[in-house]
Amino acid sequence: MKFIKDFINKQKKLNLLRELKVITYKDEHYIQVGNKKYIDFSSNDYLSLSTHPYLKKRSIEFTEKYGTGGNASRLLSGTFEYHILLEEKIKSLKNKEEGLIFGSGFIANSTIIPSLVKEGDIIFADRLVHASIIDGILISKARFFRYKHNDIEHLEYLLKKERNKYKNSIIITESIFSMDGDKARLKDIVFLKNKYNSFLYVDEAHSTGIFGKNGAGLIEEEKLSNEVEIIMGTFGKALGSYGAYITCNKDIKKFLINKARGFIYSTALPPGVIGASIGGIEMLTKEPFRRKKLLANSKYLRDRLKENGIVVKGDSPIIPIIIGDTEKTITIAKKLRDLSFYILPIRPPTVPQNSSRLRISLNYSHSKDIINNFIEKFLNIYENYKN
Ligand SMILES: *Cc1c(COP(=O)(O)O)cnc(C)c1O
Repeated sequence: MKFIKDFINKQKKLNLLRELKVITYKDEHYIQVGNKKYIDFSSNDYLSLSTHPYLKKRSIEFTEKYGTGGNASRLLSGTFEYHILLEEKIKSLKNKEEGLIFGSGFIANSTIIPSLVKEGDIIFADRLVHASIIDGILISKARFFRYKHNDIEHLEYLLKKERNKYKNSIIITESIFSMDGDKARLKDIVFLKNKYNSFLYVDEAHSTGIFGKNGAGLIEEEKLSNEVEIIMGTFGKALGSYGAYITCNKDIKKFLINKARGFIYSTALPPGVIGASIGGIEMLTKEPFRRKKLLANSKYLRDRLKENGIVVKGDSPIIPIIIGDTEKTITIAKKLRDLSFYILPIRPPTVPQNSSRLRISLNYSHSKDIINNFIEKFLNIYENYKN
């Protein structure tokens, strides 16, 4: 198996060999890696809920009552009342007819998409959609076009040219993009999906819990929940738990229960995880100040960076500082870690070539003091690496 060694050596040379870092402790304010404590700027725990006593309590309650295991696949003896309760909660939050839970966002995207479209159908997806969506598309064998990121004119050009040659058509986008932190142009996309008789699938992994009056996401904020056939999202990010969901109408839910292989052939999520997810959704109503502070601080950090001449894209708690060169990005991230800011370089293939970046992911627990301190330290380091 020479190719394995060859791959490792090649990645090493390119500075692209990734390795696991072990975290030994986490609370609301710190993570510990080895003996060193850091302020975590790299997690998706946007609302700092994963260490919240209320979520722990809900998780333990469900574990005490039902045990630790998932029992079986949902279609066998794996559907418990707690799954139904969570599906009820997520559908009300998202203001849709039905909810359906999946083991993870990866399972959901990679198996729902091929249930919906096949050879003879067509998919239009934003160029920056998540790897799990790409895998779903490839598995489906449908014809596939990636439109330029958030480029509505390009999307319409492709729809006009290609849509009618195929039977069913889906448009797929994220609502907040995971590596750029920017918002999809949802209203324009909805207009086009109606005009070109397509189905709309939106991944809200990074906006659920953060945007909208009730914290449902960007679709809520833009009042489009009736216009999106499938709203997908995860419990593993702002909601502080694990797993994924879609919300949709009754027929789509019935269809997917019978079709989506990742739903049918995978063990149901266990009670402790579901309890934490339920707790996470409940916190959106109990502590709405979390998302408000997070959004205000995100704007604050973006504005300070821009004032200092740093180009930052987007409009969310995901704040990418694009450095470009991979080696440089790695060095800056390391220097920031030496100063106790846990920031990881994001590099190809996760992002396109020559767009290596520091991905700052703000959480509720980051105070203004922490943010100001970060800005000062970052600017000092960056000074030496400017192009
Ligand atoms: C994290 C993420 C997923 C995958 O969800 P998991 O539950 O972590 O498997 C899917 N889509 C997007 C946009 C994501 O950021």
